[in-house]
Amino acid sequence: MPEIKLKPCPFCGNEAITRIKPIRGAFSELDDIEVSVSCSECYVEKCRVLSECNDSGVFSFSDVEKTMENVIADWNRRTDNV
Ligand SMILES: [Zn+2]
Repeated sequence: MPEIKLKPCPFCGNEAITRIKPIRGAFSELDDIEVSVSCSECYVEKCRVLSECNDSGVFSFSDVEKTMENVIADWNRRTDNV
């Protein structure tokens, strides 16, 4: 995973954790992938779901990585606004 510094939770100051979780698509055989950053203590969460696959129905690692970067950037931006 990219080495982006993850800021602590903007609300309680505890450690934030990243998570990549496959989830079953409601209307398809293919899984979506949920990419999220959440607080280990108060469960504040930023998440984004990847729902586009390539032809083979597989998410590329770079797609997941890029999405994770975006979610982390959103999370870090949020801490700046508190
Ligand atoms: Zn928190």
